[in-house]
Amino acid sequence: MTAEARHWLDLIHGLPLDRTLKIMNVCGGHERSISLAGLRTLLPRKIEIIPGPGCPVCICPEEDLYQAMRLALDEHVLLVAFGDMLRVPVNLPRSQPRSLDAARAAGADIRPIASPMDAVAIARQHPERDVVFFAAGFETTMAPVAALLGQNLPDNLSLLISGRLTWPAVAMLLESEKYAFDALIAPGHVATIMGAEEWQFVTQRHALPAAVAGFTPESLLAAIYSCLRQTLEGRSFLDNCYAEVALPEGNPTAQRLLKNAFDVVDANWRGIGTLQSSGFNLKEVHVSHDARDRFPDHTRASRRRAGEMPPGCACANVVMGQIYPNQCPLYGRGCTPRNPVGPCMVSDEGACRIWWANGVHS
Ligand code: SF4
Repeated sequence: MTAEARHWLDLIHGLPLDRTLKIMNVCGGHERSISLAGLRTLLPRKIEIIPGPGCPVCICPEEDLYQAMRLALDEHVLLVAFGDMLRVPVNLPRSQPRSLDAARAAGADIRPIASPMDAVAIARQHPERDVVFFAAGFETTMAPVAALLGQNLPDNLSLLISGRLTWPAVAMLLESEKYAFDALIAPGHVATIMGAEEWQFVTQRHALPAAVAGFTPESLLAAIYSCLRQTLEGRSFLDNCYAEVALPEGNPTAQRLLKNAFDVVDANWRGIGTLQSSGFNLKEVHVSHDARDRFPDHTRASRRRAGEMPPGCACANVVMGQIYPNQCPLYGRGCTPRNPVGPCMVSDEGACRIWWANGVHS
């Protein structure tokens, strides 16, 4: 442990906590750093860190995944997607492929990519094929996807967009008044794009302490300390503990790209439902590269699957911080990284997978 991390831990242990305080994080990267560094075991027992809606794969609705799979199987498109998506289970009978990986095993041409530019390169290498890029992610992923649309894209490339904004999920939680946390660690990556100021609503509208954090244990501990002090002092302001990277106004270039590429629309979140102004949709000007428009029958068919979830999977409750991963009855029993039931056990940013990988096996 570094001297700086020890310094923050000492300050936290010196706080006069007279009750349990719960702090939610909103970023799979934060949850990974917290678990990897074992911060939960180093903090006083009266502090709970709750994983929240920080995994874009976990909230990607099944109808989008289903459409991607059917396009690859029925239309013989060459489908490209970020690798995490390939093992996410789809709730279908065992007689059918139940993930993109299974569809690939059944003969579909599905390829994992590491960057949006890979989709363009593959489309150029295969001008005779329809190439569909299944693009799911939060603002940090969607900004580079938006950058693609500023280029001259190959005619044979279309995009199946499943992008989401992060803040509406937190706003929905806070407005429901059913949340059970005392403070929020705001997501550092999203703040670098959209600006730390975007999280002011947490403190100003809901009077909840909040701090933007980076991804080192030091930055996370500084944010936790700030949240705790604010709570103990009965104050709430947005503290930026990642100020060297996350500017108040964010990255204007990335924001302009997002604005030029996408409309912000109401969107479905897996197991959670429709959240107002929480999704990215390709603008009309890009309709020739919209896979939903290019394959309207599949779009209609997939929308009928809205709300589907693997039976017994509590991912939505995990994502919304209502239960810890190991409180799902299937955790480590029916559901493991080798045999995942839900996306939270698949994605590197999924809380179930992170907890399992870090030794929480019950
Ligand atoms: Fe879903 Fe598996 Fe996590 Fe349970 S343990 S919430 S089934 S991913």
